[in-house]
Amino acid sequence: MNTDMNDFHWAMQVIGDLDAGLIVLDQDYQVCAWNAFMQSYSGITSDKILGKVIFDAIPDLPETWLRKKVNTAFRLNTRGFSCWEDRPYLFKFKNFTPISNSLIEMRQNITFSPLTSLNGQVSHVSLVISDVTDIAKSKLHLQKSNQQLSKLSRTDGLTQLFNRAYWEKCLQQEFDQAKISGSASSVVIFDIDHFKKVNDTYGHTVGDDVIRNAADLLRKTSRNTDSCGRYGGEEFTVILPGANSEQALYFSERLRKRVEKAIVKCEGSNVSYKVSLGICELSDEHDDYSSWLEMADKALYHSKKNGRNQSTIYTSALK
Ligand code: GH3
Ligand code: MG
Ligand code: MG
Repeated sequence: MNTDMNDFHWAMQVIGDLDAGLIVLDQDYQVCAWNAFMQSYSGITSDKILGKVIFDAIPDLPETWLRKKVNTAFRLNTRGFSCWEDRPYLFKFKNFTPISNSLIEMRQNITFSPLTSLNGQVSHVSLVISDVTDIAKSKLHLQKSNQQLSKLSRTDGLTQLFNRAYWEKCLQQEFDQAKISGSASSVVIFDIDHFKKVNDTYGHTVGDDVIRNAADLLRKTSRNTDSCGRYGGEEFTVILPGANSEQALYFSERLRKRVEKAIVKCEGSNVSYKVSLGICELSDEHDDYSSWLEMADKALYHSKKNGRNQSTIYTSALK
């Protein structure tokens, strides 16, 4: 064999063994090369596809997109790429690695390269298809873990409400937005009445269940757009965007009555409990979000002092 023949022979072997798909198309989209990778994943042997127009052989290909990519390589004599993050795959191949989540189709990166003939003209375009399913899987797994971590860092473990730090961020955001838009907004803070007695009488485990019950009732009473937080031990806060003080009072009283009716069954005991609430609607009096919350807290203090199990709207008389 002469050197040229050797080169050709080896090149054909490399293409055959390549752990990637290799296709060569001519200007009429006829398939001129279809390597072993393509044969085994598509189930189409090369003798069935060589010389055929690729869109006739594989009708579910995105024809417009593929023509645009291949045309660009022909016309501009430049390489083109397609990344799995923009288009997950061109060929619908099953991925044979163990399936850990819903990702079943092989994710593919594709390179489109112009091939010049001896006269220097682009006569063909090659497509190299890389299986990047494993990379895609780890990236999606990482994204999911990061989402879980960030959820964990803003969530209170006992109640699954926002924790204090994250809730305060929400309050700051709502303060800024409501100040700009001029729309009404209210904050409600509430605290379980005589909670020490619950702990002392029934123990901490029951106390924890009562806290969880208060959180559940808060969730049930609030809307999706409200931000509910566990501010401290048995103290809760909620932002009611769009609510004036009357509407916030309606919310508070609904919640208070629900709590009053609730019976927490735990360790053989039936425990009932009550809450006191303080309400403050955002106004010109507030220079920052903390003064807004402080005034709601003053209203809560008034509810406690005035006999508990009640809601109070902040007014300047409470100063
Ligand atoms: P008041 O009506 O004035 O609010 O009376 P209180 O007994 O509820 O008084 P206070 O709010 O000061 O009591 C809070 C108690 O809550 C003290 C603390 O031991 C308990 N506590 C705080 N966090 C937790 C918790 O996560 N689980 C349990 N079981 N108890 C908690
Ligand atoms: Mg309390
Ligand atoms: Mg308290």
